Amino acid sequence: MLPILRSIVQEVSAAGSVEQALNLIVVRVKETMGVDVCSAYLVDKQAQQFVLMATDGLNAASVGQVRMGMNEGLVSVVAEREEPVNICAPHNHPRFREFPETGEERYHSFLGVPIIHHRQVLGVLVLQQHSEKPFDEDVVTFLVTIAAQLAGAIAHADASGEIEGLRPKRSVAAPLLGLPGAPGVAIGTAVVMHPYADIDSIPDRQTDDPKGELKRFRKAVDAVKKEIRAMADRIGEDLGKGDSALFDAYLLMLESDSLIDTTEERIRQGNWAPGALRETVQEHLRVFEAMEDNYLRERAEDVRDLGRRILGHMNNEKRQKPDYPRETVLVGEEITASMLIEVPPRRLAGVISARGSRTSHVAILARALGVPAVMGVDELPVGRVDGRRVIADGYSGRVYVNPNQTVRREFRRLQQEEKAMSEKLRSLGTLPAKTKDGARIHLYANTGLVSDLKPSMKSGAEGVGLYRTEFPFMIRERFPGEEEQRQVYREVLESFHPQPVIMRTLDVGGDKALPYFPIQEDNPFLGWRGIRITLDHPEIFLVQLRAMMKANAGLNNLQLLLPMVSDVREVDQALALIHRAHDELLEEGEDVKLPKIGVMIEVPSAIYQADELARRVDFFSVGSNDLTQYLLAVDRNNPRVAELYDSLHPAVLRALKQLVEAARQHKRPVSVCGEMAGDPAAALLLLGMGISSLSMSASSLLGIKWLVRSFSRRRAKAALERALKMENAGEVRNHLNLLLEKSGLGGLVRAGK
Ligand code: PEP
Ligand code: MG
Repeated sequence: MLPILRSIVQEVSAAGSVEQALNLIVVRVKETMGVDVCSAYLVDKQAQQFVLMATDGLNAASVGQVRMGMNEGLVSVVAEREEPVNICAPHNHPRFREFPETGEERYHSFLGVPIIHHRQVLGVLVLQQHSEKPFDEDVVTFLVTIAAQLAGAIAHADASGEIEGLRPKRSVAAPLLGLPGAPGVAIGTAVVMHPYADIDSIPDRQTDDPKGELKRFRKAVDAVKKEIRAMADRIGEDLGKGDSALFDAYLLMLESDSLIDTTEERIRQGNWAPGALRETVQEHLRVFEAMEDNYLRERAEDVRDLGRRILGHMNNEKRQKPDYPRETVLVGEEITASMLIEVPPRRLAGVISARGSRTSHVAILARALGVPAVMGVDELPVGRVDGRRVIADGYSGRVYVNPNQTVRREFRRLQQEEKAMSEKLRSLGTLPAKTKDGARIHLYANTGLVSDLKPSMKSGAEGVGLYRTEFPFMIRERFPGEEEQRQVYREVLESFHPQPVIMRTLDVGGDKALPYFPIQEDNPFLGWRGIRITLDHPEIFLVQLRAMMKANAGLNNLQLLLPMVSDVREVDQALALIHRAHDELLEEGEDVKLPKIGVMIEVPSAIYQADELARRVDFFSVGSNDLTQYLLAVDRNNPRVAELYDSLHPAVLRALKQLVEAARQHKRPVSVCGEMAGDPAAALLLLGMGISSLSMSASSLLGIKWLVRSFSRRRAKAALERALKMENAGEVRNHLNLLLEKSGLGGLVRAGK
């Protein structure tokens, strides 16, 4: 049976549409099982009906015509019971409903199996027979297996609107669903952006004039560099004078050996410039796209964008710049950071992209600029929205195309409230994060991405609570050397001096891979990650430690943080290496001081060994992203289990409480640097626990400051006590959202004031 099943599944996966897939299934199942009829019914959610979508055996003309209510017919019995229904003489069943147009009165046995995805019944597969005897068990199990395999494909087609004609036209008031990219509400006119030249379709072509091609390529690269510098200057006015940090990444790529030298080498070997460029770009894309880390995968788009720009210049393509109306909302299959920059800043109201996520460069940039963005709107009808009115809600990830007047009016109101709120937040800039009863919390910024540095400084952060050193390692083609690293770290330490900067030692592995240090594992999150790697490679670890301590010379605002600690012996070994690096530097005559050292608390074992750890180090920093993932056994990047991933889970809260108590006994400060710190509901509980500092992305900082200043620690403690008695994360979140709403801070968790 297995080979047949495999071949059906393969054919189904290769089908061009759901309709094709269903037709294929009914034909193949009927043939394989030697039954008289196989049909597929799907649920039409809006009409609340089952619709016959494909059949082999019933009258073909009844496809699309046969519809029955959610409580009608045997199909509805299968859906209701969520299990196979295998009966003889179906017409005797009280729920049987006859459709004479199908010709089914001739069949005397019925097997129905539900198609279920994420606990939701999407449809039913049905077999029918002339003979009056139930179906054999192997037929039942075969059909169950097919239905389970089919469910995912149907759910996807449903989400992308592919199940055409099944339901009435979408009502204009119904929103399209995407992912929140940058908070805020945008109302404006859609301007659809198309990518530049299509780089993938460029053919290879032999050239007799490699010199001429090289010249053409270099000229185009220079033109793109100029273009990007001009954009950086223009946008600098908004991100702060002279801030070209984001574009440094682009310029770095334009100067990198791998992009430029490799293309030039290919031209020298005889390919014409566009073909050589395509080869290089595609090679990069393959590496980036294979990466598990979201941030890095998104970098593939930056490479593609650069490739298209260079190609455009080589072809002397005069790009027509669209007219950007006031309140432009950029819409496209894939909006890139550079498309966003081309819009005059005062005219840009929002961004809607069919692809991408929160970690796309364009979303990061939009957050830095305070422009609302919605990403990953699968259903976005890009071809049909240019010039239309659109609304993007960057909090909920909802998009409205051609909204009616009521929706428009409501969002205008919310937008005005938002404006009033952000003015209020800005006025908090220099005020301390102090609770009403005088408890002082330190608010720090998380950085590591080149583009984060300036916004972090401007956000009123009191230092850097987490500098992820992976980034300078990721954008290179080999491990960066000591001096190279020293310069990068020095810039960060100087930028924030005299405020503290907590630098985490290299945390690769898991979902963060280095292109030049691939790690293949079945269970990467439980494998060779973080400190496990650096302890196994002292030659990498020592270089990083030396670079950090040298960068700190004369500044002394560096603190060191060790990631992924799961065993105290790791800390002992790391401390020995830190002392060794320090001693060596002293011997070499360097003016270096031993920085404070902390461990990340992100593996459950670290919670239970907090005592032992506290005796060894100066502070704790909670990596709530990983801690949640390991405590709940939920992969932080897997959309299938995303609903189970919530840092407000009572188990996470209890673990944190235990940690804070242990740390208090040893007088060690605890900070939180995972996403929890920037989540207003969670931050309130952390405040109640007695956490001394919170570190988050710069864009969340002022909102959290407002929260801290609006509550007393006593009230936060009371909220925590209640939450600790609750049984699940949903209950905790509702309790906190309500409390924020009642305290006038609802605007932190939804659109409006
Ligand atoms: C965390 O795990 O919460 C954390 C801050 O580290 P990262 O997200 O880089 O794994
Ligand atoms: Mg982590």
